[in-house]
Parts: sequence; C-alpha cells; structure tokens
Amino acid sequence: MSNIAQTICGMLKESRYTVVLSGRGMLEENGYPVVRDGGESYGIEEKYGYSAEEIFSSAFFSTRKQQFYDFYRNELLSAVDIPPGKGYLEMARLEQEGVFHTIITRRLFHLPTRAGCRNVIELHGSIFRNYCAHCGREYPVEYIRNTEKIPLCETCGQPVRPGVILFGEMVDNQVITRAATEMQKADVLLVLGTNLKSFLCSQLTGYYEGNKLIVIDGEDHFSNAGADIFWQSRVDDALAEIITEMEKDRK
Ligand SMILES: [Zn+2]
Repeated sequence: MSNIAQTICGMLKESRYTVVLSGRGMLEENGYPVVRDGGESYGIEEKYGYSAEEIFSSAFFSTRKQQFYDFYRNELLSAVDIPPGKGYLEMARLEQEGVFHTIITRRLFHLPTRAGCRNVIELHGSIFRNYCAHCGREYPVEYIRNTEKIPLCETCGQPVRPGVILFGEMVDNQVITRAATEMQKADVLLVLGTNLKSFLCSQLTGYYEGNKLIVIDGEDHFSNAGADIFWQSRVDDALAEIITEMEKDRK
C-alpha cells in the first residue's frame, strides 16, 4: 500500500467539501473513444476526410447533417454499450459514502451518472439526451441509433440534435457558474485522469481557493508541478487503494 494513498485518504477525511474533476484518462481506462481532444483524430480523418473537431461542430450540423449523424452514430453512440467501469463505480461509491461531493466533467458519455453518481455537472452535456431544437421533444439514444438517415422529430419533422456542446458552440453560462460555485466551495480538489493544462482544468481551477489540489493521472505532465500532490497512476487503481485505506481506518 503506498503512502500517497494514505496521505490522500487523510486529506479526504478532513475535507468538508471535495470536488472531483473527471477527465479523459478515466474514459480511456473504460475503453471509450476520446475523439474530442484529437487523440484518435488520425483514424477519424482517414475515415471521414475531416477531423472530429470539424465534423462534430455546429457548422457541420447545419450544412452536412448526414455526415454529422454517420459520425455521431458510428464513433460516439456505438460506445454506449460499454458499461461504466471500475473507476466510475469507485467514484460513485466514494460519493455515496460522502467522501466526494460533486463530480464535474466535460465528457459526453454520462458515465459518472450511469455508475451511480448523483451530483454531476456535465459541462458539455450528454449524448444520452437528444432533442428537437424546434419543439424541445426529447429522444433516447436508441432513436438516433435506429435511424439510418437524419433522425427527425416525430412531432414536427425537424432534425433531432444531440444535447451536447458542439465545436463552435458556447457552454451555457449557467452551467459554468454552477461549476465555478462548486469549485469555490471545495476544500480538496481532486483531478482524475487529466492534467492541469487540460481544457477542463484551465477552465475551472482558477476558481479553486484551497490548498489541497490533488492530481491522479497515468501520464506525467509538466503542469502537474502546480498540484499539491501528483500521483502517477491509473485512476481506477488509485481509487481502489484510497477505498482500501478508508476501510482500514474504519476498523
Ligand atoms: Zn420537434
């Protein structure tokens, strides 16, 4: 058992409010595609002739809907059959035990919530919510998956769009404000599966006023020097160790 898990466990137990930022590394550990940050862009570009950023954008949605939906179905919706893995289940357990208070993510696959987390802020929305921009009627993932062409609203015949922030769209101000308020409340800020230079962190860590910023990520990155604790590890393994530590103390 590593000392670092003990130290973090101690901080978490003293913390009145712990906010978790859940990043791409957790998604990768779970076998999900990370198409938004360019990680797998080369394959996408070969297949579609455009990058993921170009296709999954508001411009593409308005002008090339068929290609947009082919990409959406094949690259994003095809992944939802993979259930939430160990890391997300551990995160949910720690939330249920009152150790974590809020989970914030930019990821679109609704994984923290599907794993059982309750207080989740999805900055960019979720692919589990699809709606008609005209009348607001909502449609499940299956409705989009089962349509070969452009999925249309059964009420008004307009295209059903994903309830996520596309490239070129702005994040809802209310959502950012909610996330910023959570950050300000945090005693401990736990960054999981990403580094401090990521979009997620650069957008939010400025609001954190505490001095217990912990980063757990599989990759070392120069920005992690800015953390109070950096633990290079898979997130699911690290959370498992933290849970074991917590249990030990209870005995
Ligand atoms: Zn409609």
